[in-house]
Amino acid sequence: MNRQALVTGASRGIGKAIALRLAREGMHVWVNYLRSEQAADEVVALIQASGGNATTVQFDVSDRETCMKTLETLVEKEGAMDVVVHNAGAVSDAPFPGMDVDQWERVINTSLNSFFYVCRPLIMPMIRKRWGRIVSVSSIAALHGNRGQSNYAAAKAGLIGATRSLAKEVANRGICVNAVAPGFIATEMIDGIAADLIKQNVPMGRAGSVQEVAEVVSFLCSDAASYVTGEVINVSGGII
Ligand code: NDP
Repeated sequence: MNRQALVTGASRGIGKAIALRLAREGMHVWVNYLRSEQAADEVVALIQASGGNATTVQFDVSDRETCMKTLETLVEKEGAMDVVVHNAGAVSDAPFPGMDVDQWERVINTSLNSFFYVCRPLIMPMIRKRWGRIVSVSSIAALHGNRGQSNYAAAKAGLIGATRSLAKEVANRGICVNAVAPGFIATEMIDGIAADLIKQNVPMGRAGSVQEVAEVVSFLCSDAASYVTGEVINVSGGII
């Protein structure tokens, strides 16, 4: 039977590339989005046009009740997820003294608390299957910090801690749990960043492409990655 994968935040950017890439591996992909219904439909159409299978699934990963309920229902109807890529994330930058509590909480809820809301309903069915792959999309910001991004860096660092801990808990059940830490990747998220700044800060002198992240995620979701767990792989053009 074909494997099925949930990719959160798959309507655009890195998540879209991951959805397309996993579909090429023959997985049925559940394309999650928050607001971009049309874009998510286009991702599904692209996958179907190339012979793959996909379905959209709308929910807010930062909304505990809706997210957990939607995923419980999805598993009841469709069976366990084999692969979960927790990619959805958001930024709301401000210098720390000027950051308001909403900005702090929104980013922590979207990138960190969502790890629990997404993975908790999916983990027991995965454990029962004795095979699974979970990949968290963290960030280089988790490792270095970034001016104006205390909320984002904290969320992404917390995500690494949660990922590594879950990896240890389920390692003997055939489930691998890893994270990727992208650097500057050419998506809407970095639209405001000057090309010069990227050139100066990235040893490779350029932003990465969404496909370059998707390739690494695809490997981590494959049978080939069966002895890799609890890792964080930078996809950052040499920022270490
Ligand atoms: P984009 O802003 O291009 O896309 C974000 C995606 O996440 C969209 O599909 C969006 O859905 C979805 N999303 C946002 N909030 C929610 C939510 N609450 N519930 C469900 N879906 C949501 O982001 P990127 O592709 O650039 O980033 C993807 C991930 O990679 C993020 O976690 C980001 O932090 C991380 N990352 C990105 C880097 C970069 O340079 N681009 C660098 C390091 C890490 P919708 O379209 O409906 O709004």
